[in-house]
Amino acid sequence: MPALEALAKDQNWRAFARCADTDPELWFSVGAVEHKTAKRMCRSCPVRRDCLNYAMDSPVDHGIWGGLTERERRRIRRQAGGGDWRRLVA
Ligand code: SF4
Repeated sequence: MPALEALAKDQNWRAFARCADTDPELWFSVGAVEHKTAKRMCRSCPVRRDCLNYAMDSPVDHGIWGGLTERERRRIRRQAGGGDWRRLVA
């Protein structure tokens, strides 16, 4: 089943996620303090780019993914205007 294999491969980055053993509340909270803490952890995450790609391409509307809040991801999508959002993210 090539489609399932491709999906599994695409999701392998999750095994290296820095947040894997943390409280999910931190990533889906609306509080500024929680956002700051989560984003600090994302900055040193080895799979940050994969995580952001997943959240932007799915798209995932809630939570912090790839170091960006849902509001930040929406803004980038809007700025990209249907084009490649990757050029807007350093
Ligand atoms: S970038 Fe952040 S949200 Fe994504 S896997 Fe890493 S720690 Fe988790």
